[in-house]
Amino acid sequence: MPERSAFPTPPAGLEGAHLVRSGCPAHNCGGRCLLHVWVRDGKILRIDADDRPGDEPSDPQLRACIRGRAYRYRQNHKDRLRYPMKRIGKRGEAKFTRISWEEAFGTMAERIVSVRDAYGPTSIFVPYGTGSYNLTNGRWTAERLLNLVGGSLGYYNSYSWACISAATPTVFGTNITGNQRQDWLNAKLILMWSWNPAEMRDGTNSEYFIRKARERGARVVCLDPRMTMSAVALADEWIPVRPGTDAALMSAMAYVMITEGLVDRAFIRSHCLGFDASQMPAGAESEESYEDYILGRRDGIPKTPGWAEPISAMPRATIARLAREYATIKPAVLYQGYGMQRRAYGEQAVRAGCVLAAITGNVGIPGGWAGGIALQAPDGGPRWEILPLGENPVTAKIPSFLWSEAVLRGRDMGPADGVVGADRLGTDIKLIWSVASNILINQHGNVNRSARILADESRVEFLAVQDNFMTPTARFADLLLPACTQFETWGVQDGWKYGEEVILAPKIVEPAFESKSDYAICAGIAAKLGVEPAYTEGRDERGWVEWAMDHYRKTRFPDMPTLDELEASNSGMYVRPVTEPAVAFADFRRDPQAHPLPTPSGKIEIFSKRLFDLKRPDEIPAVPKYIREWESPFGPEAAAFPLQVIGHHALSRVHSIHDNVPELLEAFPQRIFMNPLDADPRGITDGDPVRVWNDRGALILPVRLTSRVMPGVLAIPQGAWWTPDRAGTDRRGNVNVLTSERWTPYAFGNAQHTIMAQAAKAGKPGRRR
Ligand code: SF4
Repeated sequence: MPERSAFPTPPAGLEGAHLVRSGCPAHNCGGRCLLHVWVRDGKILRIDADDRPGDEPSDPQLRACIRGRAYRYRQNHKDRLRYPMKRIGKRGEAKFTRISWEEAFGTMAERIVSVRDAYGPTSIFVPYGTGSYNLTNGRWTAERLLNLVGGSLGYYNSYSWACISAATPTVFGTNITGNQRQDWLNAKLILMWSWNPAEMRDGTNSEYFIRKARERGARVVCLDPRMTMSAVALADEWIPVRPGTDAALMSAMAYVMITEGLVDRAFIRSHCLGFDASQMPAGAESEESYEDYILGRRDGIPKTPGWAEPISAMPRATIARLAREYATIKPAVLYQGYGMQRRAYGEQAVRAGCVLAAITGNVGIPGGWAGGIALQAPDGGPRWEILPLGENPVTAKIPSFLWSEAVLRGRDMGPADGVVGADRLGTDIKLIWSVASNILINQHGNVNRSARILADESRVEFLAVQDNFMTPTARFADLLLPACTQFETWGVQDGWKYGEEVILAPKIVEPAFESKSDYAICAGIAAKLGVEPAYTEGRDERGWVEWAMDHYRKTRFPDMPTLDELEASNSGMYVRPVTEPAVAFADFRRDPQAHPLPTPSGKIEIFSKRLFDLKRPDEIPAVPKYIREWESPFGPEAAAFPLQVIGHHALSRVHSIHDNVPELLEAFPQRIFMNPLDADPRGITDGDPVRVWNDRGALILPVRLTSRVMPGVLAIPQGAWWTPDRAGTDRRGNVNVLTSERWTPYAFGNAQHTIMAQAAKAGKPGRRR
C-alpha cells in the first residue's frame, strides 16, 4: 500500500501553500468528510478530497461533495459579518450600527438577566439550529452558559427526523434499528424509498456502499416523486410515487404479500404482535388487526393494488411486482428516507415501512433491514456526547417545531401541545438567542407568518443572532454577534449517523475581522455574568477538543491517539474499521424470549397498544394506515391549489448554508422543476419565470421543464434565502413561503412537504402574475 505524505508538496499553482487535513464544517448535511485544505499566508486557497490509500468497505475514503470542496468561497466571502452590531431600525429592516464586543457582551448579559428576572428562565430559548455543528461549537456553547445562570426552555426532536424518531420506537421500542452499512453488501435487493444520499448524503459513503452492493449483484430500486441523482446514478429502476401516499403503497404491497402467501408466517408468529386476530394484545383483543385493515374487514376497503393505484399514481401491476420482489428476493433492505416523514401523517409511512420489513422476515438478518430511523447497531452509532452542558434548571421542553407557538401562547402550552417536563410552560418565549441557526425565518414553516411574529416587539422582547452572515434570520436581530467559521477555531466531529470516526477540525486560519468562535463569544458573556471560571473551567477551544478526545478514548476508542499525536500526523482523523458489521436485532431474531425488544410486549408491535390507548384512531391509529393529508390532491383545496410542492435537498446548499455562494448556484441554479404535462395547459415553456402561490405566500423563479419530476408535483429545492419584493413575493425561491406551521399529530413534527399550490407564468416583478 503506498504511503501518503503527512505534508505533501503542493500542486502546481499552489506553490508555498501547506496542507491541513480537517473535517468538513458539515453543518448537518448528513455526512462527515475529510477535507484537504491548502493554506498560504493565512488564506484558504483550495480544498481537495480525502486521498487515503486503500478505500476498502471496512474503511472507505471520506470523499467530500461539492459543498465541502466549495467551502473556500464561503470562507473568503466578502459578506462575512465583521463586527458586533445592534439594531437601529424596526425589527426586520436590517438596519444596524457597529458596536464594540464590550458593549455586545454587556447588552447580552443584561438582557438575559432582565428577561429571566421578569418572566423566569423558561422564557429564554436557544432554537434548533445546525449551522455550526461539530461537538464543541454551535448552539451547545450558549446552552452551557445559560445552564449556569438559571437555564432556558429546552426542546426535543428535530426538523429532520421528528416523525421517524418518534414512530420507530412504537414498532421496535428503540431507534437503534440499523445494521452497519458494510452489511448492505449482503443484500440482494435495496429499495431506496424516498431516499437520496447522492444529493443529501445521509452518511458519507452511503452511495459508495450501495454501489458496492450492486457490484455484488443487488438490485436497487428508487421510489421518489423525483428522478433524483440517486435514482440516476445508483438505481436499476426509478418508480415515481405521489408525495404523501407512501403508506397507501406499502399497504397495497402488504395486501399482495398476504393474499399470495408471501409473508413470513413463522417469523410473524414468533416475533410480532398485532398482525392478525390471533395475536392481539391484552385489552385490545377484538380491535382491528393489521391484517383486518389490509384486507378491509372492518372498513370494507381491501387495500388492493387497484385501490392504491389512483392514490399513489403507481400502476397496480407495478405495485404487485414490487411487493413480490420485496417479499421473495431475500435478504432485502427497505431504506426509509426522511422526506416521506416530513409530512402531514409522516408517522404512518415510517410505521408501515417497519411493518413490511417485519412481515417479510427481513429483521435481524445479515443483508436485511428493519427500517425506521436506523441508528446504527449495536449501540446507536457515533452520535456522541457534545460539549458538557451541565444541568438545565428548567425541566420543560417543547417540540423543536413549536417554538412559534411558544412565542404566541407559551403560557398556556402543556402536554397537549407536546410540552414535556412540566404541566404548563407558564410563560411565552421572550428572549431568543439564535446561534448558528436560520430556523426562525428561513427554515420554519410559513415564512411570512414567522416574520410577522418576530417583527412584533411586544412578543419576543430581545432577539440575538450569532452567525457568519446576514441571513434572513439575522436581519431580524436586535443584537448581531459575528461568529467565526469552523476553519477559524478548534473543533472535533463524530461520524454522524454512521462511521466509526473521530475527525479533527483544527484551527487553520485566524478569525476574519472581529469575529469570534461561538465558545469565545459565550465566554465573554459569561465574564459579564460572573460565571466565566465555571463556564470555561480554564479551557480554550483546543482544550475542550482535548477533553472530548480523552473522553472518547476512555469510553469508545481506546486506541485513538492523543490530540497532539493526531495533530502532528496531519491525518485529520482516527478510524476504527468495521470488518464484521453489526446486525440490528440479531439476538432478538435468534431468541426473542431471551432477548426481547424494549417494547411493552417485547415483540415487534405491528399493533401498538400505546397508540391505541391515546384514543385518536383517525390521526394516530394503532396499526399503520394511509390517511389522506390535510392538504392533498384529493381534498377540496385542490380546486384552487392543484399542485403538490416538495422542497427537496439539493447539492447547491446544506439547508440554507451556501445560498450566498455564487459558484454553487451557478452549478445548481435555483429553479422550479415541473413536468411538461403540467406546464403545457398553463402555457409555460422551459425557462419562463413562474409564479407559485397558495394562501400563505408566493414565489417567482425560472422553471425547468423535465419529466424527471412526476406530473402534479413541483420540486423547489429548499433552503434559498427568503428575499421578498415590495409585494411580498419571494424572489429567490424560498419554498417555506408556501409551507405550513401545522405539526404532525403524534411526533409534533414539521410537515413541511405537505403543500398544495398553484402555478402560472409570471408577469412583471411586483405584479400578482
Ligand atoms: S457531504 Fe457534508 S461533510 Fe461531506 S463534503 Fe459535503 S458538506 Fe462536507
